Amino acid sequence: MTSQNLSSEHPLPPAFQELAAQPLGKFFCHEPLARHNSWKIGGPADLLIEPETPQQIADVLQIARLRGIPLVVIGQGTNLLFDDAGVRGIVLKVGAQLGKIEIAGQRILAEGGAWVPQLARLAMRAGLAGLEHCIGIPGTVGGLVIMNGGSQRRGIGENILRVWIVGAEGEQRMLSQAECDFSYRHSALQGTGAVVVKVELECPYGDIREIRREMVCDLRNRRHKFPRKQPNCGSVFLSTTEMHASVGPPGKIIEAAGLKGTRIGGAEISRQHANFIVNSGGATSADVLALIRQIRRTIRDRIGFELCCEVRYVSPLGQIMPAHLQADRLA
Ligand SMILES: Cc1cc2nc3c(=O)[nH]c(=O)nc-3n(C[C@H](O)[C@H](O)[C@H](O)COP(=O)(O)OP(=O)(O)OC[C@H]3O[C@@H](n4cnc5c(N)ncnc54)[C@H](O)[C@@H]3O)c2cc1C
Repeated sequence: MTSQNLSSEHPLPPAFQELAAQPLGKFFCHEPLARHNSWKIGGPADLLIEPETPQQIADVLQIARLRGIPLVVIGQGTNLLFDDAGVRGIVLKVGAQLGKIEIAGQRILAEGGAWVPQLARLAMRAGLAGLEHCIGIPGTVGGLVIMNGGSQRRGIGENILRVWIVGAEGEQRMLSQAECDFSYRHSALQGTGAVVVKVELECPYGDIREIRREMVCDLRNRRHKFPRKQPNCGSVFLSTTEMHASVGPPGKIIEAAGLKGTRIGGAEISRQHANFIVNSGGATSADVLALIRQIRRTIRDRIGFELCCEVRYVSPLGQIMPAHLQADRLA
């Protein structure tokens, strides 16, 4: 294993030293999690491991389970709020080391750490349509599949044929699209502890100029609508079809409540798009959670609607949950 960031000030517990002594990829001790998410928030992880093979992922999961060490799987952290206390356990980051993309005909094989905009771009160059809506999503394929992410009311699950995972016990398996049970921002993999290592997608052939035009249009819209300069995690609250029909999208509801620009500590409701919370400097997870709580209360009192978070909070013991559940606990 490539060791980095070892500190004699904060010695690792013996179980972690055992892990650190094995060839399990790159590892970082006492790693600030603020470096691994797009909000730039979060305290240190005892151990952050970046595996290079599915077998290394399986080995880490098995050791963590046998030793009872909390473990969290992450990609680029673009949908995550880490706690100010960090994680007392292992953060397993599936990143660029597992980021290969191969295209043959209408089939695409992409590893879990592949960069989503790169996947969309390569599909476009191969004349494959259907992934235009993913061009502006700044995460990994694994994170996208777990969240069934997408835009323009679409989800990556529509194009998935198969998903290869390492299960929570370290076993390697393949799941069909049906077994993943994709629905709006949901997959059956959520909460199982499984790690997505590879996916197979199928896309119809399309007109390259038309695909490119749609992607350029999507990126232009995003540049225009979303805050770009301040760290953020994309849309904080879920926007379902039923919600659109009954009360409208979260950004509009929050804006109508006069909350744009509201600030707690370093966390601020974006003045550009009210469904974004930006880190305007030194924001903590406590600031973001308090702001989420304030938004939910205001909207509940105003229109009687319960906003739910798309963004996930990661507890110091490695539990991952929609951020509003943790915000409510602080009440
Ligand atoms: C500016 C901006 C715009 C965004 N726009 C969109 C958008 O249009 N549509 C959209 O859906 N999302 C959007 N997002 C949110 C985010 O980019 C997506 O949800 C993305 O797919 C998350 O990928 P990630 O690698 O960052 O995952 P992370 O944030 O690291 O993790 C998200 C979840 O996936 C799990 N996970 C990550 N990788 C794996 C893996 N390999 N195996 C198992 N579990 C894994 C984590 O445990 C966590 O539960 C946006 C975010 C930002 C910052």
